[in-house]
Amino acid sequence: MSWALTPLTEEQKAIQAVAGEFATTEIAPYTEQWDRDAHFEPSLVGKLGALGFLGMLLPEQFDGLGLDTLTYVVALEELAIVDASVAVMVSVHNSLPTQMILRWGSEKQKECFLKPMARGELLGAFALSEPDAGSDAASLRTQAVRDGSDWILNGTKAWVSSGAKGEVIMVMARTDNPEDRRGPRGISAFIVTPDLPGFSVGKKEDKMGLRASPTVSLHFSDMRVPGDRLLGQVGSGFLYAMQSLDNGRLGIAAQAVGIAEAALRAAAAYAAERKQFGKPIKEFQAIQFRLADMATRVASSRALLHLAATAKDRGERITQFSSMAKLQASETAMWVTTQAIQIFGGYGYVKDYPVERLFRDAKVTEIYEGTSEIQRIVIARELYSRT
Ligand SMILES: Cc1cc2nc3c(=O)[nH]c(=O)nc-3n(C[C@H](O)[C@H](O)[C@H](O)COP(=O)(O)OP(=O)(O)OC[C@H]3O[C@@H](n4cnc5c(N)ncnc54)[C@H](O)[C@@H]3O)c2cc1C
Repeated sequence: MSWALTPLTEEQKAIQAVAGEFATTEIAPYTEQWDRDAHFEPSLVGKLGALGFLGMLLPEQFDGLGLDTLTYVVALEELAIVDASVAVMVSVHNSLPTQMILRWGSEKQKECFLKPMARGELLGAFALSEPDAGSDAASLRTQAVRDGSDWILNGTKAWVSSGAKGEVIMVMARTDNPEDRRGPRGISAFIVTPDLPGFSVGKKEDKMGLRASPTVSLHFSDMRVPGDRLLGQVGSGFLYAMQSLDNGRLGIAAQAVGIAEAALRAAAAYAAERKQFGKPIKEFQAIQFRLADMATRVASSRALLHLAATAKDRGERITQFSSMAKLQASETAMWVTTQAIQIFGGYGYVKDYPVERLFRDAKVTEIYEGTSEIQRIVIARELYSRT
């Protein structure tokens, strides 16, 4: 069952069903193995592209599905219920690089990148974080210097999801002078492709969870970037990144709701099977209350997510809403997966059941695209900006 704030239309239900079916048949049989081997399955990109899931928010003129945001998050949740690693790849690609090119790219950039990205021929990634610039992303140090009509980039990006496989990487770099630092206004966005001389992929992180999503550092050593790869205006890249993260956070909220939903389903099923003291443990009120609290938190997280998505579809500014949705959903995912392990007892602590992976996958939703602390800062700041 998937509960929506407003009843889903027939088209929304159809997309949801396709996503669920794809996840069940093409991903579910391998989730455990990919998690164990930290394996990214490259064939998924083409398959997801063929279904339109890598151009969900792109208009049809760019081979996208032109979906509304609510349908997008509903589809993402279906993928995340089965595999959070696949969900983050789809979320980052759809919410960040493709949307940034659509919104701020030149006609030539749109023509060159969007159709192949929608079709799954090019996978997108987003490179804002650096080893010394995480929550304080505006302190990033990757430097871009003009050289004729080109730019020369030097620096290191950290934690880039899909970075090892990404063919279209949105890189935020400083374009101000070291003597005249302009804070966020000194940052520009560049469309980087791995064929540029001076580009290299660094360390692949050995992560606790989300193991089928490769997370890498990227190095730029005198990397020559053609001038027509600058996105939009010089000095506007940080603004573009922050505005895009409003959308990105809805994707992460959907991922977190999917993880929590999967843990709830697994725990409810196990509680009906597992017998102690001569009866299924679901007969114990302590277990019932735990399941009731889990279901309530999942439903309220989904409601907030759908509220934020529909606000976006009405064209409203959703900075506060998307941070609320991400905060609520990610903390719910962590809490619900913890409760699920408790319901499984010792069997929840081993890899025989999925709740152990769900617990590990849940944690990162409280960290990336802004930690829970950063979401609270955004939400509080927005309270005052409205008064
Ligand atoms: C698996 C994974 C995938 C990722 N994918 C990407 C990606 O694709 N692209 C990308 O650019 N980045 C990515 N990231 C990076 C992610 O966005 C950062 O890890 C995150 O923003 C936090 O930065 P940090 O790790 O440097 O922590 P820090 O910023 O060093 O924070 C450490 C702690 O201090 C807290 N803190 C910091 N500042 C404040 C404050 N002002 N008030 C209160 N508390 C504060 C934080 O909340 C946190 O608890 C990824 C990270 C992970 C783990």
